[in-house]
Amino acid sequence: MICPRCASAVPDGGRFCPACGGDVWADGDDRRHHSFAVQPGESVLSFNLSSSLMPLAAGSAPQTYRFALAAGLAVPVVLAAIGLLTAAFAAAAIVVPVVYVVYLQDVNQWEDEPLPVLAGAMVLSLLLGGAFTYLWREVVLPSGILAGSRNAINGRDLLVLGILAPIGGELLRQIGPVWLASKPKFDDIIDGITFGVASGAAFAAAETLVLNRTLFTAGLGRVAHPDAGLWVALIVTTALVKPVVYGAATGIAVAGWSGVGPGYEGFGPRYLRALGKALLYDVAFSLGLYLSTRISGTLGVIVGLGWGLVVAAAAVVRLRMLLHVALLEGALEVAVAGTRLGSAASGIAHCPSCRLPLPDGAHFCMACGTSVRAAAKQDRRRNAGPDDPAAVPAAPAGMEG
Ligand SMILES: [Zn+2]
Ligand SMILES: [Zn+2]
Repeated sequence: MICPRCASAVPDGGRFCPACGGDVWADGDDRRHHSFAVQPGESVLSFNLSSSLMPLAAGSAPQTYRFALAAGLAVPVVLAAIGLLTAAFAAAAIVVPVVYVVYLQDVNQWEDEPLPVLAGAMVLSLLLGGAFTYLWREVVLPSGILAGSRNAINGRDLLVLGILAPIGGELLRQIGPVWLASKPKFDDIIDGITFGVASGAAFAAAETLVLNRTLFTAGLGRVAHPDAGLWVALIVTTALVKPVVYGAATGIAVAGWSGVGPGYEGFGPRYLRALGKALLYDVAFSLGLYLSTRISGTLGVIVGLGWGLVVAAAAVVRLRMLLHVALLEGALEVAVAGTRLGSAASGIAHCPSCRLPLPDGAHFCMACGTSVRAAAKQDRRRNAGPDDPAAVPAAPAGMEG
């Protein structure tokens, strides 16, 4: 049959157009919202952390990272519940970044050059996050948020904690991933998102370590009768919600830098819009968290956690939507023009998710609908053909757009 979106031929029995990814069986759902281009079994509008923040290889190992994240998160939560607060905060700071390093290694995101990628995506943000957090916490707010009347709203604290710190942090988190996403090897939007999330998670870790450093210098203290509800809520906010909000926000902004088509788009309206959205999530999160600390006790912490989850869910869904639309639009554009993306299947290629063979030139699996761009680096390189030196070669002239 002929695809109604791009007029390419869809082989008999195929459900998804291999050229543009459209669902040829679904009437009227032109944008395929029921079926995420990275993980077609999921709706685009869902809060699945592993397929959103770790989109590469979401198809080939969907459960691995979900399990790793859950198991990793259990460590600080248990430590907090039994009162080992120092260890709990240390573990909380590093869970998401550690899972992310394993993921980057697993999908060979660094193409056998781990140092520049790790440095650009994580180490730089770790250092900048540490220095920046120290600056606003110790130099700008020396008396700190713990001094003064606890329930009153202080204008200076509100401005620094709720607005300036999140904006400055987001701008610093852009440096490493934008540098990486400007390299031809990493100019795909999925690479941009991956580096953005890595940067956000590393920055969150540094912030947590600096903010709680008095706990570490005080030694491995154990609280005899911990208020488990309070500490567990605080740890979940620290270990999961903060890195997810920062990671998703930075991922959204860097995706705007990478752009939809081949090559990176760089500074332009798309990047500015994306950065604006990222800043909105960052400020909403930090402002809400500051205001929630004005409510004393466990209630304040739980309100903070609840608000954090709302912002995290909104940012993650926005990130999924952006990625989904980019994968479909990028393919549609070139399919209508009668050309193909550099990442398109060529020679002997297989779907990263269901392993069925892909027809030559396919951008999507016609059986399950997974985008070939959502494959791990080694699969992307193999699928793009043995003759191509890189997984995503530069586009021929005239394909930009
Ligand atoms: Zn089509
Ligand atoms: Zn498939």
